Amino acid sequence: MPDLNIPLYVDAGFSAFEMRALESLLASNPSIHWIKLTDEGTYELILDNSIMSCFRTCPSLFMMTWVEGFAPKIGKSWILDFGTIFHKLVEIYYKEFRTPGFDRIKWATEIAKEEWIAANMKFHRDHKEYNTIGGLPGFASLLLEYASRFSADNERIRVIGTEIAFGRNREVPLGSVYNMVRDAPRSDFANVYLRVFLAGRIDVLIDDRTSIGPLDHKTKGSFRGDPSKFYEIDEGPTGYIYAVNQILPKLLKELNLEESLLERSCNKILMNYISKTPTQDPAERFKRLPIFKTSDQLESYRRRMLLTAEDLFRALIRYAVSKEASRSTNNCTGLYGSDCPFLAVHRQVSKENELMMLSANYEKRPIWNTEEA
Ligand code: SF4
Repeated sequence: MPDLNIPLYVDAGFSAFEMRALESLLASNPSIHWIKLTDEGTYELILDNSIMSCFRTCPSLFMMTWVEGFAPKIGKSWILDFGTIFHKLVEIYYKEFRTPGFDRIKWATEIAKEEWIAANMKFHRDHKEYNTIGGLPGFASLLLEYASRFSADNERIRVIGTEIAFGRNREVPLGSVYNMVRDAPRSDFANVYLRVFLAGRIDVLIDDRTSIGPLDHKTKGSFRGDPSKFYEIDEGPTGYIYAVNQILPKLLKELNLEESLLERSCNKILMNYISKTPTQDPAERFKRLPIFKTSDQLESYRRRMLLTAEDLFRALIRYAVSKEASRSTNNCTGLYGSDCPFLAVHRQVSKENELMMLSANYEKRPIWNTEEA
């Protein structure tokens, strides 16, 4: 285990006491995979969009989830579970849909049923959307409609790869945070106290003959207006475009693909929007729309993520010392379509009651790793 470069952090305005507190917080939560001490004794953060977005949503929620690993003993999120199972099925689809003998009926029924049962989707049987979609039979119909709308004959895309994870090997750097206290050149390597990398997992990477980019899926309750309106400013899709730009040359080599593909632009993500509510014309249940990003937008994204990382690091140190984090109460009752899982804790009348509620109804789990999901 390398020694922490305390003088560097003291120079950057942190105290030795704070840095030791951070060390012991990390030692007591060893499954935190997104912060690492380098051989130089400085920290690096490997952050995916879920981690950064959670921190911006509510720092307290972030500490509960991504630092402490608390989760309700009982309880599941329909929106997250449905999104996960749908993504799994779509990945299988794009891996196999052009393979001779691919049986889309088997995919939409037997394989979907196995995944549905494994994810214990029946838990959500009282959720409004579970009934709108029609449970497992309705899910199978949705998949069959999908396979018909995006059949091998209809699709004009070439699938380059599926389940492409990046992050662990620091493939996508977002930049470094420098000591701004000492009057020294920003580029001075010795002043870097935090390096930041983007992590993630691209479900499907495609080539549409003009550009190479991710194909992402968003399931919506129903379509109201233009579904791109939210996602064109969402950091998630921008991050995927940013990542493809960084990983493509190495990826093409690894996949043994022609180098000429590097001439394609990487400024686009294709978004498949899916309405959970059935529509009269099954084809209307799906919308495929591109989101484009200029190089200016990608650079601006990089700088914003670096700011998020710096804020997160400072908040983490404060939490290590005080076990306190700020709360963003705008999101307590409207998080992914339901109440925040920690609302029951944060509505308590005293700290003591909060701790009692936590120990009775929540459990500590290893920190979720999206790269391995
Ligand atoms: S209940 Fe509200 S304040 Fe508490 S963690 Fe959730 S969003 Fe944050």
